[in-house]
Amino acid sequence: MLQLHNTPTKLLEEFTPISDKRVSLYTCGPTVYSTPHVGNWVAYIRWDTLVRTLQANGYLVERVMNITDVGHLTGENEGDADQGEDKLQKGARRDGVTAWRVAERYTQEFLDGMAKLNLLMPAHITKATDFIPQQLALVRTLKEKGFTYQIDDGIYFDTSKFPRYAEFAHLNLASLQAGARVSVNQQKRNPSDFALWKFSPIDEQRDMEWDTPADLTAEKKIRKGFPGWHLECSAMAMDILGETIDIHTGGIDHIPVHHTNEIAQSEAASGKQFAHYWLHNNHLKSDGTKISKSLGNGYTLDDIAAKGFSALDFRLFILQSHYRTESNFTWENLESAKNRMQHWRNIARLRWQTYDTLVDDQEKVATASTESIVNASSAILAALNEDLDTPRALSVIDETFSTIDKRPLTETQQAALVSLLEKLDDLLGLRLLDSTPDISEDQKQLILERQRAREEKDWKQSDVLRDALLAQGITVNDTRYGVVWAKAD
Ligand code: AMP
Ligand code: ZN
Repeated sequence: MLQLHNTPTKLLEEFTPISDKRVSLYTCGPTVYSTPHVGNWVAYIRWDTLVRTLQANGYLVERVMNITDVGHLTGENEGDADQGEDKLQKGARRDGVTAWRVAERYTQEFLDGMAKLNLLMPAHITKATDFIPQQLALVRTLKEKGFTYQIDDGIYFDTSKFPRYAEFAHLNLASLQAGARVSVNQQKRNPSDFALWKFSPIDEQRDMEWDTPADLTAEKKIRKGFPGWHLECSAMAMDILGETIDIHTGGIDHIPVHHTNEIAQSEAASGKQFAHYWLHNNHLKSDGTKISKSLGNGYTLDDIAAKGFSALDFRLFILQSHYRTESNFTWENLESAKNRMQHWRNIARLRWQTYDTLVDDQEKVATASTESIVNASSAILAALNEDLDTPRALSVIDETFSTIDKRPLTETQQAALVSLLEKLDDLLGLRLLDSTPDISEDQKQLILERQRAREEKDWKQSDVLRDALLAQGITVNDTRYGVVWAKAD
């Protein structure tokens, strides 16, 4: 049974999809105006674990993730998400290219990062600019149903016409009204109203703009415009997945504005519940503080690689904390994740050394090591099924691996170990199998020769061979049960 924490009810709820086998999932994706930092990656790693957990429960996941390449304004950070400059247009000025080029460049960077982190590609990765007709159709429906009004800079959603507006995020609209900043557009009927479609400034040509259909405006002259940020998610989710979807995910910062607005416009248009489950990931701090440009603590995957860490070390670091708790990035924390990964990889390498020629797998069934391996797969899935409890899943893995470590290798059933590693890779995407190929025949020969030298008490030769192996990154450990080799990655 899969249980998920549902944001609006604040409860752990049993997951029951709309259809038996298929799960529709929408993930709010990146705004492609700069290189993602460690904090931005958090959400995508978290929701990748969700997809993998759903799949392990036998569901076919149909997932949409948007690429925001227009309409996300800088005013978001100053109290009014409908004001300020388009982040893409700002990026264009910074890079000295068009907004289209900025979108192309950072979309590619994002996709490359996804591959490095071994994140599953959603079936639909959709750009806001490819869904302009669908977004305009949604504005039209809302206009026909009486939810919109026009002011100088665009077409807005009247939140007072949607009585449930405050419910999702448990907002206090009265205090929002009282605390409305001067910076909030005074033409809005309510401070919480939001732009569905914004008009291009009269004195400026935007790189990205479209004709506002005549039936949507009160004006005779065609005005150019662009979609508000929230609109794209509703339009894409409903166009591809249907008016009601199973799960919608995002960062906790999306709850009070972005997702609240998505719900208002989707449900006002369709008259149906937009999503059954809403999941939100908490934020990552960096060096103990909020990630900010001025502090320079928004490290990128390239910064991580430059310090000798892999993207998968970072992935493991993120999995060490629960998605609903705040976590903290430091190089020391990343180092400890890397060490854990190193240990896990060396356990994965044991599958090449399980001495099958000596003892048949079948005869090892009853050993403590095999039992622990066989039980681990279901214990890990059980942890993930409890609201994606990755820290607990990871400690099950540690316990199992330490049992393997402590037992004679001859006891470890190769098939069981391989099957556990496959399961781990499926669930956590750490590529334990891919990253631990067997060593070469020549290297195995060196290990044998060294063993022989030791048997003959030729310590000098044994040291020479040990050094030769070390030069190739291979360490040999003489255990009570024989030689075990490992590698430093
Ligand atoms: P931005 O590109 O700044 O608009 O951020 C895109 C999304 O990344 C935000 O909406 C957040 O959900 C997410 N995000 C930004 N910073 C962090 C962080 N420190 N931890 C987790 N998620 C973050
Ligand atoms: Zn969204």
